[in-house]
Amino acid sequence: MAKQNKESRCSFCHSGKHETLMLIEGMDAFICDKCVTQANQLLAQELGTKGTKNIQEAINLLKPLEIKQHLDQYVIGQDDAKKVLSVAVYNHYKRLNQKVDKEDEIEIEKSNIMLVGETGTGKTLLAKTIAKILHVPFCICDATVLTEAGYVGEDVESILTRLLQAADYDVAAAERGIVYIDEVDKVARKSDNPSITRDVSGEGVQQALLKILEGTVVNVPPQGGRKHPDQKMIPVNTNNILFICGGAFDGIERKIANRLRTQAVGYKVKKDETVLDLKNLYKYITPQDLKSFGLIPELIGRIPVLSHLNPLDKESLRNILTAPKNSLIKQYVKLFAYEDVNLAFENDVLDFIVDKAMEYKLGARGLRSICEAIMLDAMFDTPTQTDVKELHINLDYAIEKFEKADFKKLQAA
Ligand code: ADP
Repeated sequence: MAKQNKESRCSFCHSGKHETLMLIEGMDAFICDKCVTQANQLLAQELGTKGTKNIQEAINLLKPLEIKQHLDQYVIGQDDAKKVLSVAVYNHYKRLNQKVDKEDEIEIEKSNIMLVGETGTGKTLLAKTIAKILHVPFCICDATVLTEAGYVGEDVESILTRLLQAADYDVAAAERGIVYIDEVDKVARKSDNPSITRDVSGEGVQQALLKILEGTVVNVPPQGGRKHPDQKMIPVNTNNILFICGGAFDGIERKIANRLRTQAVGYKVKKDETVLDLKNLYKYITPQDLKSFGLIPELIGRIPVLSHLNPLDKESLRNILTAPKNSLIKQYVKLFAYEDVNLAFENDVLDFIVDKAMEYKLGARGLRSICEAIMLDAMFDTPTQTDVKELHINLDYAIEKFEKADFKKLQAA
């Protein structure tokens, strides 16, 4: 082992002990604080290049079709939204790659995305599932908590705090990340909206969002919020951050219907077009409808890709129960397998669960609450009943347990 005596010198730069702040002793060598810092920078650079390689690999590996196929494993239906997302994410990778290459004159602009669809139809699920296959930081934020700066609530910058946290405070990584902003319809201008309870969360937030979405350098509080007023802000450039916004836009169907009707009169749209699919008016959505709902045109302009999610019918709900890779039923089976119990559901139980979800208008989100109500007693008892090895849930059992459950709780789900 090297001795740290008067002659001890850094084995890398040969600085003497007195010329350094700190000399760290290894097995047969010393390293000074300056060399540690330099080595650290080299390492960060190297890892940074690897990050770029990852992006290139992702492009090579995942074409839009493959991204969609991956989504298909977890999300039932919603083909339009899946296609739009797959292309947008693929282009996002290409765009990031373009920045890495020598700059040419054609610059691919980012295409932030708006997903519109009833609550519980899979908007967040799509975003989450996309996140799994990404090599970029990803976070989900809720627009309902955002307020104009100075009001109770969170500043819009908090969105970027989340992204920084998701990137482990690696600013360069965060600057090429993806953000999902949920419930973006809640920042609609309230004068165009039935609810007039709050307005600091309306247009002011849209203006603030606008800046972030269009690409600018934002000073982000690393700890988030206003609780730590002394924290040092981190500048984050949002130019390359892809924003996916989602919202139910309750009541927008009426605006779509009105527009379609006006068009039908004004432009003599073909008869069959005006009566098309009244159950799913979302699919005729245009940026104009978002404007009549209360989004400011500048913000709509910053979110050029607009897609919709279809309401879930019985068949889709039935599929959601069993088909996705981590479907609810598969999750229960796995839970019981941990107790060495073979769990099975009879088909009419699955139909019953779907019927109840439809009946109480709970959508896909309600499936879980209904399953929980049915399975609670079994999950409570099985761990202590070591002799039980098979558990078959039949319709009578399901009805009994479901009726026993406190139903108000389900409706609030
Ligand atoms: P949204 O964001 O549209 O309100 P979510 O994505 O949060 O809805 O959906 C709630 C839950 O319902 C999800 O966690 C998922 O289990 C289920 N779900 C909703 N839509 C689908 C779908 N299309 N395919 C599979 N599961 C779905």
